[in-house]
Amino acid sequence: MSDNVVMKVENLKMWFEQRTGVFSKPLYVRAVDGVSLSIRRGETLAVVGESGCGKTTLGKTLLRLYKPTDGHIYYNNKDITYLPEKKLRWYRKEAQMIYQDPFSSLNPFFTVYKILEEPLLIHGVKNAEERKEKIFKALEDVRLIPVSDFAFKYPHMLSGGQRQRVAIARALILDPKFVVADEPVSMLDASVRVEILLLLRELQKRYGIAFMYITHDIATVKYFSERMVVMYAGKIVELADTKTVVYNPLHPYTKALIEAIPDPDPANRFRERNVPPGEPPNLINPPPGCRFHPRCPYAKEECKIKEPPIKEVEPGHFVACWLY
Ligand code: ATP
Repeated sequence: MSDNVVMKVENLKMWFEQRTGVFSKPLYVRAVDGVSLSIRRGETLAVVGESGCGKTTLGKTLLRLYKPTDGHIYYNNKDITYLPEKKLRWYRKEAQMIYQDPFSSLNPFFTVYKILEEPLLIHGVKNAEERKEKIFKALEDVRLIPVSDFAFKYPHMLSGGQRQRVAIARALILDPKFVVADEPVSMLDASVRVEILLLLRELQKRYGIAFMYITHDIATVKYFSERMVVMYAGKIVELADTKTVVYNPLHPYTKALIEAIPDPDPANRFRERNVPPGEPPNLINPPPGCRFHPRCPYAKEECKIKEPPIKEVEPGHFVACWLY
């Protein structure tokens, strides 16, 4: 693995068991079903796809909030796939998550100071003065200024944007090198979304953090990520640098997502609800062949029988489709 790669994932699967009755055979929701990718130091890899395609599950599995069903996760060359919780303490510090909802992700009974102090205490920063220094610096980094005012406020005293700044400060206070940001601005007013994304970008560059940015919104992906993957039914269907995917999409699913809205700039056409017509994918009993074939206008006989492997069709541009 190149030294530049922070996160490498090989054929990762995360299936959730679904019991329908005491004596019946369990069924499995194949939320992530054979994903391979890598994320480089200081890079943002965006993950897009319609609701339920497995984006959040992929992010949480990379953070080892789940024990994967199969495959491998390498963090800085170390295989962390099946490490037990007690051997993951160091990773809990290195890898963090920023959640979508700043209203439910902060403890309403804690001051901002206490919210930011908690991870420091958990990870053994014993000196109170050192903790204070880190908390004040983190608040300054996310521009909650004057810090001495914000430190002693409770979450209900803050706006949505300010709460998300606290959530970002909490995720970054342990100096992580890998962060999963799961729709970090989708619940905020449009007016503060760009501000928060620019702040994340600036902190990412300053501290050399690799980001996985989960979103429905290609308009923001264009500014916020170097490369992107498009997921469909637990699988990657396309992966390339962001501009290539947005302006030269190859997979029929990516094309359908982008072409659905008549806007002159393709980047602005992609929204969650612009999904192709047809039934949403079945993650328990996926169809044979390509998972997208029941909705694909170009499906050939082959697509109904054999699953397409992901192929590099031009340098750095990967597509899983029998048309290529
Ligand atoms: P959204 O954009 O709506 O957040 P998503 O692409 O992030 O969707 P996931 O939340 O990863 O999708 O869900 C993928 C599939 O896995 C869904 O069918 C979901 O119901 C299922 N799933 C997710 N978490 C669990 C769980 N803990 N137990 C059982 N099924 C789950």
